[in-house]
Amino acid sequence: MKNLLDLNVDLHTHSTASDGVVSPSGLVNRALANNVDVLALTDHDSVSGLSEAFEASIGTNLKFINGVEISVSWSGLCIHLVGLAFNEKNYNLLSALKNIQDGRFRRAKKIDEALKKEGLPSFLDYALDFAKNPGQIGRAHFARAMVKEKICSDMHDVFNRYLVKGKPGFVEHHWPSLKDGMNWIKEAGGVPVIAHPARYKLGSHLPYLFDEFSNYGGDVIEVATGSHTKSDILKFQTLANEYSFDASRGSDFHCPVESRCDVGLAPNLPDGVNPVWYSRLGITL
Ligand code: AMP
Ligand code: MN
Ligand code: MN
Ligand code: MN
Repeated sequence: MKNLLDLNVDLHTHSTASDGVVSPSGLVNRALANNVDVLALTDHDSVSGLSEAFEASIGTNLKFINGVEISVSWSGLCIHLVGLAFNEKNYNLLSALKNIQDGRFRRAKKIDEALKKEGLPSFLDYALDFAKNPGQIGRAHFARAMVKEKICSDMHDVFNRYLVKGKPGFVEHHWPSLKDGMNWIKEAGGVPVIAHPARYKLGSHLPYLFDEFSNYGGDVIEVATGSHTKSDILKFQTLANEYSFDASRGSDFHCPVESRCDVGLAPNLPDGVNPVWYSRLGITL
């Protein structure tokens, strides 16, 4: 019998319902193979994979939790807000996600135009083939198409040369506000979490983000994620305590060959933080 402290919890993963390559049910099977006890599927701006994943978890030892990763604009940057354990049928949340998805497709057309201006062929149809649904399209789908066509050697190369801020295929985009994103999650009964805070490279601006998040009622940040180094984990452990935030853990798994971290294999949370799943997600043995 497992101790509550020994649970393998992964609260940040992607499937083919956004820019992951494994289906929602495939992800649940992969999580089971990796001895995951609690799994959230957190696709970008989409909850369309949740029912398949939940159904795949029925009758197994895995506890499935609804999740989403909402893109929001804050201070001119795109911040990722994970939502956990909400009602996936909440009308306001679903209509907000539909609007964000419409924006994703509009942005994709602009990305395509920007890349064509650089002398590249159109990758829109190719990227749409990878995305399946126009509302799910993102930069990762363009990157996969461009790697296939040997424009760059790998995904990171495409991002660094074309798709990050300051590069020719980057398009400024208005995502919803942090406040709206948090309210949609909370009104649907869920818990908002700042995803991978080290990724935004906020430096001395970090307290502004955390203060605002806290003022809107936010109290959970990811501490251990696939993109955090050991020193990032220690830094956000300290900050979680300073702000009285609970801590989350997630791999941010997208793809076996692209991702740094497989499902369930993110570093463990350090001692001395409150894991979000004890207090807020109702996980019992
Ligand atoms: P988007 O939501 O369309 O702006 O795309 C963001 C997604 O692109 C992230 O969730 C990652 O899946 C992927 N991504 C971002 N930066 C990189 C990178 N440097 N290398 C590979 N994938 C990346
Ligand atoms: Mn992604
Ligand atoms: Mn993210
Ligand atoms: Mn993610």
